[in-house]
Amino acid sequence: MSKNYFYIRTFGCQMNVHDSEQLASMMIDAGFEQTEDINQAQVILVNTCSIREKVALKIVSQIGRYRQLKENNPDLVIGVGGCLAQHWGQSLLRKNVGIDLVFGTHALDRAPAMIRRIQRKGGAIVDTSFREDIPSMSICPRPDNANLQAFVTIMQGCDNFCSYCVVPHLRGREKSRPSQNIIDEIRALVAHGVKEVTLLGQNVNSYGKGLVEGLCFSDLITKIDAIDGLERIRFTTSHPKDLTEDLINCFGKLGKLCEYIHLPFQTGSNSVLGRMNRGYTREDYYTKVESLRETCPGIAISSDAMVGFPGETTTDFEATMELIDKIRFDNLFSFKYSEREGTTAVNLDDKVPEKEKSRRLSLLQELQDCHTLEMNKAMVGKAIDVLVEGISKNSSRDMMGRTRTNKVVNFRSKENLHGKTVNIHITAGYLHSLRGELS
Ligand code: SF4
Repeated sequence: MSKNYFYIRTFGCQMNVHDSEQLASMMIDAGFEQTEDINQAQVILVNTCSIREKVALKIVSQIGRYRQLKENNPDLVIGVGGCLAQHWGQSLLRKNVGIDLVFGTHALDRAPAMIRRIQRKGGAIVDTSFREDIPSMSICPRPDNANLQAFVTIMQGCDNFCSYCVVPHLRGREKSRPSQNIIDEIRALVAHGVKEVTLLGQNVNSYGKGLVEGLCFSDLITKIDAIDGLERIRFTTSHPKDLTEDLINCFGKLGKLCEYIHLPFQTGSNSVLGRMNRGYTREDYYTKVESLRETCPGIAISSDAMVGFPGETTTDFEATMELIDKIRFDNLFSFKYSEREGTTAVNLDDKVPEKEKSRRLSLLQELQDCHTLEMNKAMVGKAIDVLVEGISKNSSRDMMGRTRTNKVVNFRSKENLHGKTVNIHITAGYLHSLRGELS
């Protein structure tokens, strides 16, 4: 019997990458084989994201190219899943002849069976229903011995309804995974050589809502910290309003929790924060950052910033620049506001012209680049533990690893140190990485 190959293309964030790993596991369990060669595939799965408009446009044109492959391979099944599929639903089939399956964010686990049905009987299927439980959240992707790091989903969805964001509409309301289930997955990963886990969710620090066991996120991390053989714990993404004192204290007392947090602030203007429905002020944000730095000196902080939200004046933008200057982030992911259909921000007046948004974005990025470079240069002379991930992209004679503060370090080594934690003396700091020597 000939093999039934599938090919997956993933767009978007870490959550989506992890969803694709889970989907691939379920496909393999259902008897399909994964291929990296698209021309060999009987099934193409596109896992989509709709957080940014630019990504959405890229996905649409990519799906168009996949549909052309049907000219030479009429039995090819094309499935589109994830956030955009959830958003477009049935209309995706109407607009795009050649798509066979549309599966939403709660239908991942049902995709293999739906593909089999289409292969047997033909026709097209759309499944974008929301479910009370999300079975795919508990699927553990096949551990790969080459991987030191793994993502582990702990919750999905979001109840916050920030006025610019489509996630609550497309991923549904917050649902947390039972803690034992998470612990069992991490133990299995550690048994396969994983040393570092990143706990994933749209809003991880509100973990536990609706669970009968009555746990909160800091309780969960404390339990994970006790797992033998695990070396490092990270998490993403956290909401400033849900960053509790308990969680901040975890950074001071849990040995495996890395000294790094991604804490999106979005804007430094209180009036814009109000219109964004973020639930905190710039003063609240400062207080949390101060508390993090007091509890865990040297903690690295990264963030998300958005420019050009409707009604953002030059004074509002200056408040954002001032916040960046005062806090000094290790790294910043910055974007221009773009309208997302179905969100309340679409109805706000006072749109900021594109040209002005671009001007503000480049000023902001220029400032952040100065800070990042300055902070990386300040690392020179320090000796830091680095978990070695593999050969460096820059040179085959170098190895690359990551500090607990999530900074990339390249260094020369005659020995393959993959998977080892080594002490590196930092000799140079650049915008995107550090360079060092084995101590
Ligand atoms: S917290 Fe806000 S920005 Fe983040 S996923 Fe929820 S609604 Fe979107």
